[in-house]
Amino acid sequence: MLIRVVLIALLAAPLSVFAQSGDIAADPDRMEQRILALGKFGTNEEGGVSRVAYSDADIAGRNYIKGLMRDAGLSVRVDTAGNIIGRREGSEEGLPPIMFGSHIDSVPGGGNYDGDVGVIGAIEVAQLMYERGITTRHPIEIVSFTDEEGGLVGSRAMIGKLSDAALDVVSHSGMTIREGIEHVGGDPSRLDLAARKPGDIAAFLELHIEQGAILHEDGVNIGVVEGIVGIRWWDVTVEGFANHAGTTPMNRRWDAMVTAAELTLAINRIATDLPGRQVATVGKIQAFPGAPNVIPGEVLLSLEIRDLDAAKIQQVFDLIKAEADRIGSRRSTPVRFQEIDVASPPAPTDEQMRRIISASAEELGMSFSLMPSGAGHDAQDMATIAPTGMIFVPSVDGISHSPQEFTSPEDMANGATVLLKAVLAIDGGALE
Ligand SMILES: [Zn+2]
Repeated sequence: MLIRVVLIALLAAPLSVFAQSGDIAADPDRMEQRILALGKFGTNEEGGVSRVAYSDADIAGRNYIKGLMRDAGLSVRVDTAGNIIGRREGSEEGLPPIMFGSHIDSVPGGGNYDGDVGVIGAIEVAQLMYERGITTRHPIEIVSFTDEEGGLVGSRAMIGKLSDAALDVVSHSGMTIREGIEHVGGDPSRLDLAARKPGDIAAFLELHIEQGAILHEDGVNIGVVEGIVGIRWWDVTVEGFANHAGTTPMNRRWDAMVTAAELTLAINRIATDLPGRQVATVGKIQAFPGAPNVIPGEVLLSLEIRDLDAAKIQQVFDLIKAEADRIGSRRSTPVRFQEIDVASPPAPTDEQMRRIISASAEELGMSFSLMPSGAGHDAQDMATIAPTGMIFVPSVDGISHSPQEFTSPEDMANGATVLLKAVLAIDGGALE
């Protein structure tokens, strides 16, 4: 009899997770109202925000967020890296927290949704749990990371990787990051206290706007992020021969600009023709000596390649390099590539987390698709210490880092509802 009871309890365990969340859904009006209220801090003339990290507007926004966290029954603290953390204890002793959140700092001239949706959405989840009396086995921690736009500062610190050199960088606020962290209540001399190790966090989730147009154009509710793409940069030099543009006949020129033009087209073609979602860009070009009456003797161009798979980035580069060698030798204008050390490796999300988010969307009757993130996020840092997942919601027309940024209240609420369901599934043992 006892065995049967235990068995029934075990079988019922995953069900109770769904029974607990039932058909609880995030409140689109409440989320919209809070997004607009947060947007008052640092509002700009175009209707967006310039709430750069450590500014007065940032501090006012942070205070607003702390208040919302308290109203959602969370105990609030600021860690030594300046991250705002709202915590609620779990029912079971000794379990690591499930953490979710994003950031509220913006780029100068930014919008009201990048980052904000993830923080307001995380608070919405905590508030729903509080109001509906939903208990969790794990503690939950809602995080608003410090200075995401300045180089993932808060999450870098949380994984123990914020370097001294990074602390000396001057931020948009005019303060160094070191001064900024202190200004918002952190302690840059004790960043070790903000660092977490693998195992310290049961799972990390970030809800975020897509910042691209795929979900909006395809009419899909939820993006299940496969990972944050890796980025590699090169300086490309084309060596020609500078000569008089009037006296040198067309068949006696070693024109570095013409080679650079052909190479630019080839880079675009190679990245387009390969199957997959890799992107390659020439974003900068400079001719020397740079005069209308001189055939360019040297041209510098930038090359950037991004993909979710490091091997794919290498493959694209190898194809570009081979084509550059062909073009360069045909035109007798050698092409050299010098990689710049800004490489940021691909950060895949956790496969089980993708499955949990997909299942949550599906059970809620929402459409979803798997997609890479072309932009960087705090989740890419967190992925190095905890099973990490990201939930995207549509950005209207794919506009971001602009006052025109917009995500509908319904889409924001869909994302928060999926977040709630995923957190409860993880709490119920879906990762174990
Ligand atoms: Zn963001």
